[in-house]
Amino acid sequence: MKLERITLTHVRIPLLEPFRISNGEVSEKDGILVRVEAGGIAGMGEASPMAGTFYSDDTPASVWKFLTERLIPAAFAAKAVSVASINRVLDRAGGSPFARAGLETAFWDLEARAAGKPLYEALGGYNVPVESGLAVGITKGIPALIATIEKYLAEGYKRVKIKIEPGWDVGPLGEIRQRFGDIPLMVDANGAYGREDSAHLRLLDAFGLMMIEQPLPRSDLKGHADLQAVMRTPLCLDEGAEDSAAVRRAIRMKSCRIINIKIQRVGGLANARAIHDICAKAGMPVWAGTMPELGIGAAQTLHMATLPNFAYPTDVESSARWFLDDVIEPLITVQGGKISIPAGTGNCYEPSERTIGRFRVAERVFTP
Ligand SMILES: [Mg+2]
Repeated sequence: MKLERITLTHVRIPLLEPFRISNGEVSEKDGILVRVEAGGIAGMGEASPMAGTFYSDDTPASVWKFLTERLIPAAFAAKAVSVASINRVLDRAGGSPFARAGLETAFWDLEARAAGKPLYEALGGYNVPVESGLAVGITKGIPALIATIEKYLAEGYKRVKIKIEPGWDVGPLGEIRQRFGDIPLMVDANGAYGREDSAHLRLLDAFGLMMIEQPLPRSDLKGHADLQAVMRTPLCLDEGAEDSAAVRRAIRMKSCRIINIKIQRVGGLANARAIHDICAKAGMPVWAGTMPELGIGAAQTLHMATLPNFAYPTDVESSARWFLDDVIEPLITVQGGKISIPAGTGNCYEPSERTIGRFRVAERVFTP
């Protein structure tokens, strides 16, 4: 096989509702689709940074620049055609995990399609439906939060996750428990609290939460360890679980009891699987979060979430949950709280040329 062509397509799709967390709000979803062609087969990847510095320093513009100026020329120079060879190129290049994830995951799709296998099989996962959880951003007032949960819970989602920040935590949680009883419930603070909030955060133990995701800033593993030592509720690291080394430190320091693995944040599927394996060996369960990505990235997350140590519902939701339209066919749908991966090879979804054409804002083709 020979690396024949790489196509980058920047798409921007309106969100059906603005997505607000403790450090920002967006109303459109940007995604950079990466199409890698070799041996007459195409593999698709997605780099999925949010506009603005939302979860990280990566933006659509910075990711586009890094892919076009560094990573794609390096992939052609190395004549990369496999997952192993692209990972060697990316390890040498360093830099943006989002850009890296876009290119690396396209090679996984390519390699699995060339082998006639679904991606989950290439990863070591299984053909099982993936449980899906509902994620709700910070809303303007509690009635809007309750209405959103009510609307989507009817579709059967397996748990509810709400975003919290100082001033928006015990109030909404009390209302949710009162209205919906003992539904599986968790919260995500995206690092919005500080060590000085320990006594307040301990109040959250009263709500029987599955976990509290990233209460403290990403680098504060010691603060998380001290907080976990005085809380019943499991803490989960998301932003803080940025690579294998950070995860090993967190396990050693007892900073958390659960790890959230995001393909984008850790720079691709090989890194994500390595973190899964480290956690499995340490007896620490993991689950699969999202940015949320468009359909290509979401599909990869579904395949990854079939690995055996993924123990909680994923954040992957129906395509129609957030986006006016999605870049894949068929769309992702949740049935009875679960998502079934269609039969097929690679990521098992096909890019929707109609949707990609409609929402394309830039495209560039690279050849050797
Ligand atoms: Mg999170």
